[in-house]
Amino acid sequence: MKKNICIMLASLSLMACAPGANQKENAEFDYTVERFADLEVLRYQVKGFDELSLDQKKLIYYLQESALYGRDILFDQNSKWSLPLRYTLEAIYTDYQGDKTTADWKAFDTYIKQIWFANGLHHHYSSDKILPAFSQEFFVEAVKAVDAAKLPLRDGETVDQFLATLMPIMFDPTVMPKRTNQADGEDVVATSAGNYYDGVTQAEAEAFYAAMKDPNDATPISYGLNSRLVKRDGKIYEEVYKIDGRYGQAIARIVEYLEKAATVAENDQQKAVMEKLIEYYRTGDLRTFDEYAILWVKDLDSRIDYVNGFTESYGDPLGMKASWESIVNFKDLEASRRTELISENAQWFEDNSPTEARFKKENVTGVSAKVITAAILAGDCYPSTAIGINLPNANWIRAAHGSKSVTIDNITEAYAEAAKGNGFNEEFVYSDVERELLAEYGGITGDLHTDLHECLGHGSGKLLPGVDPDALKAHGSTLEEARADLFALYYMADAKLVELGIIPNAEAYKACYYQQMMNGLMTQLHRIEPGKDVEESHMRDRQLIAAWAYDLGKENNVIEFAVVDGKRYVKINDYVKLREIFGQQLAEIQRIKSEGDYEAGRILVEKYAVKVDPELHKEVLDRYEALNLAPYKGFVNPVYTAHYDENGEIVDVTLDYTEGYAEQMLRYSKDYGTLPVYND
Ligand code: ZN
Repeated sequence: MKKNICIMLASLSLMACAPGANQKENAEFDYTVERFADLEVLRYQVKGFDELSLDQKKLIYYLQESALYGRDILFDQNSKWSLPLRYTLEAIYTDYQGDKTTADWKAFDTYIKQIWFANGLHHHYSSDKILPAFSQEFFVEAVKAVDAAKLPLRDGETVDQFLATLMPIMFDPTVMPKRTNQADGEDVVATSAGNYYDGVTQAEAEAFYAAMKDPNDATPISYGLNSRLVKRDGKIYEEVYKIDGRYGQAIARIVEYLEKAATVAENDQQKAVMEKLIEYYRTGDLRTFDEYAILWVKDLDSRIDYVNGFTESYGDPLGMKASWESIVNFKDLEASRRTELISENAQWFEDNSPTEARFKKENVTGVSAKVITAAILAGDCYPSTAIGINLPNANWIRAAHGSKSVTIDNITEAYAEAAKGNGFNEEFVYSDVERELLAEYGGITGDLHTDLHECLGHGSGKLLPGVDPDALKAHGSTLEEARADLFALYYMADAKLVELGIIPNAEAYKACYYQQMMNGLMTQLHRIEPGKDVEESHMRDRQLIAAWAYDLGKENNVIEFAVVDGKRYVKINDYVKLREIFGQQLAEIQRIKSEGDYEAGRILVEKYAVKVDPELHKEVLDRYEALNLAPYKGFVNPVYTAHYDENGEIVDVTLDYTEGYAEQMLRYSKDYGTLPVYND
């Protein structure tokens, strides 16, 4: 239900291949920005922006301003010390006159970049506190060298008093160790450094919301979504995020630009969505938020779309309170045509699949997933972002009104382009023949694999009458993902795709096949810790397909492990036979699903999907580690500039991609710093 259920994982596995489409256009664009700690910062390209109308450009301009004005909210939500720390570090970073070649300064430079990336004190992914690698002496000296007026001192506070409070927060690993503590048996509210609760215990917070909830309400609001729960003078109450409430200074700017955006809305429906969102920001009323979400889901005709608000609740240990985020985007018409074309032909694909006739759907409708181009990332989507969105989160709204599912193709593209030349393909791909295939067709077949998987694969086939949809139990999701992947793999090599014009030629599919086999047999193991089994269902699905196909093709040597200089490589000897094997696998998995044959499914999963050859695993880990790739990636945004005429009307909006990472962070703090340093 949350973001990117299967889209994200599907595409992540394809990161190593390089897209072939638009290679010339991409040739001069530099996707890489900076590498530090366990992070890499990339840049994405907003293709198609220049072709938008002036009003559409204005709309994006206003929406991205609205998005950027929310930045401080997330910092404060992540902990009450994020903003004071950020301002202190930025003062040092810009004013420091000492030697910048020392190990201390280099460690400081890394630390501030990590803090920016995390929007606070804790790692964006692990939620562990980031500890500085510079000395405390260096830090004290650096702070004292800064003009005290630039430090976030409270009234009457001396620099020494300020340091006495700040130092343990930065350097003591036992102080605020986790942003979001989820350890069983502990008071996860009291022990989390996140700022969603203040002075309340887990038991108090749970009791507070239990008393509010009506178990018979079929359309419940998202309780607690947009507030901090505090205890003051023995009384527990919510500080609601709204224009005259908590974070009001930031919300006022967010609303100001939403109001401007509404003046250039593409249509009445879109305007109504914006007005409802503004009403919600004014009132903080969660019923209004639901009305907004319903209007937003139904806005399907607009080219430009956005997420703007308190959305995902991963940061709250109780999973209720949402962090602020925004993504502004516009529909990629060309890529969306591809998914529309696939959906229009859904019945043909169903009728011609290698599954038995009695398992086929008589009437199949493809899901037309939208492909979008991100124009700005903000709040909890910046710098680290998802590559797909699936909203809203409220179950009853999804059931009654549907949801929007989108893939963000310029982010996926940036990942893939930046991965070029990182040495991965040189290390793991068998020969130049396969590397060239991946360079030429890896991108298009990777996207197409996701489209076929999402638009057709999951929706294909039917259960025989009386079969329990949960018959495959714990193996259900692995087998379901395998079914969708096999549907995509089988059709990837079909002449129909060439005929429809969505794949360039009858050779391109080989890139996807090679990628699938290399990943499933070998390279995805780099994400598994030594000694562990494969657990995650998409990873199990891919190993299931690859290891089983390897076995099925053994007699004819369809796939082999070639050894060169003591290293193992996946080599495919017969692509045509491999397609037949995928068809055979699809037919069998569909049978298992349609008949609810738990035993057959269990045997397949246990035989192929779970266990890891420890020697091969070690080899993959060693070879992967030697590449020294950053485990986490994020993005800088492009800079949008509005050009005005003498009457103050916007006459053009232009884009610039040259801003660096630190430069962007410092500018955002200066231009979009909306909140006071301390928000007690
Ligand atoms: Zn899936």
